[in-house]
Amino acid sequence: MTLMRSLALALVLCAALALPRFAHAADPCQLEITANDQMQYDKQSLSVPASCTQVILTLHHAGKLPREAMGHNWVLVSGADYNAVANASMSAGLANEYVQPGDKRVIAHTKVVGGGQTTSVTFPTSGLKAGGDYRYLCTFPGHNALMHGTFKFG
Ligand code: ZN
Repeated sequence: MTLMRSLALALVLCAALALPRFAHAADPCQLEITANDQMQYDKQSLSVPASCTQVILTLHHAGKLPREAMGHNWVLVSGADYNAVANASMSAGLANEYVQPGDKRVIAHTKVVGGGQTTSVTFPTSGLKAGGDYRYLCTFPGHNALMHGTFKFG
């Protein structure tokens, strides 16, 4: 292999490795969280700066179990509504993504995904107060005890 070809190959490899990370770091308004078959999120807190006018949250399910057995969603609420939404959502059913239709306390939520699936939600921050008390949880029945975290805005 010539030196030029080696250099070209090295550059291509570098670009392939580096690009996805740069794409992430470039936008602080884009969040990612991963859930698994052990009923866990990989992050206990998420934060976005107050300069974000909207947030894009992507939820990955890194497990293998189907959504009927080990489905996960990501639901954003204020701290004051956490328990009420957790209780109300359990009975909403999988067909409603385990969120009561029209529940005004739910600030944003994703669909329920199963193993190997990814989903995302885009929501405006206009209803959020900088420094407010916000939390996220998975509302699949029985999951929120383990699957929850704090969401910082600003
Ligand atoms: Zn879950």
